[in-house]
Amino acid sequence: MPHTIVTEVCEGVADCVDACPVACIHPGPGKNVKGTDWFWIDFATCIDCGICLQVCPVEGAIVPEERPDLQKTPS
Ligand code: SF4
Ligand code: SF4
Repeated sequence: MPHTIVTEVCEGVADCVDACPVACIHPGPGKNVKGTDWFWIDFATCIDCGICLQVCPVEGAIVPEERPDLQKTPS
């Protein structure tokens, strides 16, 4: 199952972006409620490897399931 970046918990550190083997983590527009940059995962490309979750320093910013209710997904 694809992973999800919780938009309002992400702090825009971007450690996950370079770690993702299929480059499916993208920057979102503007800021989140924390006032930081935020990223989102393309569910259709994610291969559920779990690496992003391992490298993210922010607790709760990534969850190992597809949760479109928690992640803003710009088109
Ligand atoms: S999900 Fe984690 S590692 Fe990725 S940008 Fe957000 S805070 Fe940084
Ligand atoms: S689970 Fe793997 S493929 Fe999916 S976003 Fe995270 S690092 Fe990328």
